[in-house]
Amino acid sequence: MKYYLRPHHSLCIQFFCGNGYSPEFIKNMQNTINTLDKYDPLVYLTDKCDIICSTCPNNQNGKCISDEKVKRFDDNVLKATSLSTGSEIQWKTLRELAKKEIILKTMLPEICRDCQWLNICTKRNRADDL
Ligand code: SF4
Ligand code: SF4
Repeated sequence: MKYYLRPHHSLCIQFFCGNGYSPEFIKNMQNTINTLDKYDPLVYLTDKCDIICSTCPNNQNGKCISDEKVKRFDDNVLKATSLSTGSEIQWKTLRELAKKEIILKTMLPEICRDCQWLNICTKRNRADDL
């Protein structure tokens, strides 16, 4: 199985604390996080709907209804981590890269500006939390 991941989800996963768009979304998010952390698979960076989006109500026929916004988040993450769409990378390497280059540099408000969850995530934006 290929694990496709939108780059900005490398951040969302690290800040996940049980909130989400629907019960199904939350369950899938938790299962996905457990799988990634347990098996550390190769993930494929994509600018399309991914394993997290698969149960999201905002995924309409395979396209995010906020695609313009989330593509901006993705581009910001790719720039900060020097990765690109189509890259393959081990999950834990991606997780640590996003942590080092974005989270520990407290760049979240810049990277995810105007995300509806930003207040929740920035409250947890402390290195010793993650
Ligand atoms: S602010 Fe939004 S995009 Fe950024 S990590 Fe949190 S949920 Fe994800
Ligand atoms: S809001 Fe969009 S990018 Fe985020 S999980 Fe849902 S479909 Fe995917």
